[in-house]
Parts: sequence; C-alpha cells; structure tokens
Amino acid sequence: MSTVRLFFALWPSPPLAASLAGWAQQARLTCGGRAMRTETLHLTLAFLGPVDAALADELAAATPERRLAPGQTAMERYGVFGRQRILWAGPAETPAGLQAAHDDLWQWLSGYGLAPPTQPFRPHVTLLRNITHAHPPEEAPALLPWQYDRMVLVASESLTGGSRYRMVAQSRPRDG
Ligand code: ATP
Ligand code: MG
Repeated sequence: MSTVRLFFALWPSPPLAASLAGWAQQARLTCGGRAMRTETLHLTLAFLGPVDAALADELAAATPERRLAPGQTAMERYGVFGRQRILWAGPAETPAGLQAAHDDLWQWLSGYGLAPPTQPFRPHVTLLRNITHAHPPEEAPALLPWQYDRMVLVASESLTGGSRYRMVAQSRPRDG
C-alpha cells in the first residue's frame, strides 16, 4: 500500500513569514548555508512520518473538525541543530499552550495507532540548512509575536533536490 509523509504545523502569516526570512538572511551572514523558501517556513507541531494512504485520507477528513486552542508564541532566539546543520528560530521556552497543543494532538493521533515521539517537543522554525558555522548569532532580531488559531496538515513529497509540501487540510478556527 502506498504511504504519504505527513506532518501538522503552524503556518505563519505572510508578514510573519517575511520577517522570519529576514531572520534567516541575518543568520546566514554568520552561519552560511541555504535559506528555506519564505512560503515554506513553518513550525512543526507533530511529524507523523509515512502513513498509509487510507489513514492519510482519514486524517485529512477529520482535521477540519479539530479545534486548536488559540494561543501565542514568539520567535525570540536562534538555535542550531549541529548534527543536522540546521539553524532555527524559536521561543526561548516552550509556551504551556503550545506544549498542550502538541500533547493534545498526539493524544488524538494515538487513537489512530500513531506513536508519539520519544523526544521532547522543541518548537522551532528551520531557517537555514547545510550551515557551515554551527554557532548561531548571539543577538537575534526583535522578537516576533506569533498568534495562532489553526494548524495545517501537510504532505511532504520527495522530489529530486528536496521535498515539496502540499497542504491537505486545516483545523477550523473557533467561532467568535
Ligand atoms: P527533507 O527531509 O527532504 O530535506 P523536510 O525536512 O523539509 O525535507 P520532512 O523531512 O518531510 O521535510 O519534514 C517535514 C517537517 O517535519 C519539517 O519541519 C521537519 O523538520 C519535521 N520533521 C522531520 N522529521 C522529524 C522527526 N523525526 N521529528 C520531528 N520533526 C521532524
Ligand atoms: Mg527532513
């Protein structure tokens, strides 16, 4: 049976994505590497990996019925995942509401037989890949507040030269 590589993410508004692209350009002066395209910037809430196509359809159908509790986070620091040569932006500490959104999501997904990650949730937006200097700039630009009220379900399709994302569903914001 065919599989689909899926993840749930918070997607920044276009102005926030543009600001994050500015963060990437600034960090690139120190770290080198390759900036992610602005329209692909996101914060992963849950990485499901490859799931059977039938389950992917089921999740896509169920996602609009999910309500993500609205909340706020902020991009306030740079960080590096050295082994993966990634530079990222993220909150200084994981906001409780975001952690709860992650935990609730996995609670729901476990009902579909999907196993939650064993690693702690590290909310971040990947800005640069293949960095050549593993130390992030000490100073980050001015804090970027990020209000969210929905999550998107994204299919990640492998192409030669990288992955392409396809939005397959989004949760419905709460009324009022
Ligand atoms: P590529 O792997 O082809 O370079 P990509 O990393 O953008 O592209 P995916 O690997 O499909 O695409 O990942 C989609 C999202 O899920 C990205 O935000 C990625 O950082 C995140 N992700 C991937 N693997 C994991 C994992 N094991 N745990 C947590 N998040 C992950
Ligand atoms: Mg990847």
